[in-house]
Amino acid sequence: MTVFHHVVKWAASHDVDVTMIDERETFLLKPSLPEVALGEKTIGDVTFAVRPVIEPQGRCIRSRVQRIDAVGQRVLLDDETFVPYDTLIIALGAKKDFSAIGGFAGYGYSMCTDILAPKLQHAIQMFSGGDIVLGSAPMVPGNRTPDVPFLKAACEGPVGEIAFRVDANLRKRGLREQSPITCFSPSEVFFDDVGDTVLDQFVLGKTAVSEAP
Ligand SMILES: Cc1cc2nc3c(=O)[nH]c(=O)nc-3n(C[C@H](O)[C@H](O)[C@H](O)COP(=O)(O)OP(=O)(O)OC[C@H]3O[C@@H](n4cnc5c(N)ncnc54)[C@H](O)[C@@H]3O)c2cc1C
Repeated sequence: MTVFHHVVKWAASHDVDVTMIDERETFLLKPSLPEVALGEKTIGDVTFAVRPVIEPQGRCIRSRVQRIDAVGQRVLLDDETFVPYDTLIIALGAKKDFSAIGGFAGYGYSMCTDILAPKLQHAIQMFSGGDIVLGSAPMVPGNRTPDVPFLKAACEGPVGEIAFRVDANLRKRGLREQSPITCFSPSEVFFDDVGDTVLDQFVLGKTAVSEAP
């Protein structure tokens, strides 16, 4: 959707047809999921229908892409039809490997999907005090784009967002004193991709920071 937004005006003035293929009819604003997790927004607030946005300016196909035929310059859809392309932009998002974290399925929470963020919201609402531990799992980086800086954690911004929001939420509810918040990170430098200011604020707020072994 972001790419579409950027190319569509240029495409219209250059006789270029743009087709967007997605298996969902809706676009999820993932950066807003921490707000959903804290009950400040609903999933409905952070989701919108793509077709009315795309169709005035391009073609919109709802289907899962099964395969990319790079030699033939075409993608294979669910119904076994092919869509040809001159230029293909792949923006399929990250697929998180929750099953790689032992115990996560039964006891863990995440704000990273539209299914999990409301469950976390419910858990926070029900929380009545105790230890809160949050952090990010190590990322396995690709190696095809050597210019991209190496980070052990993909993106720790949302971890910080949740930590600060949970802190504020518990303070409001009078639960903060009996609820220490501890963060863990696979990186040597916590919040490596976000910067020192966030880390300083976090530690000054008397929240414990530890590094994963
Ligand atoms: C909690 C959280 C907070 C974040 N905060 C920020 C932030 O503050 N700033 C920032 O820049 N980034 C942030 N990000 C990262 C940002 O959301 C992602 O980098 C961005 O969404 C990636 O865009 P994308 O289009 O590649 O993938 P997505 O937004 O995940 O979209 C992928 C789309 O591809 C579709 N799809 C997947 N597979 C197929 C298939 N085989 N066939 C057809 N369709 C398919 C899906 O249905 C989906 O609609 C955050 C992410 C999370 C989870």
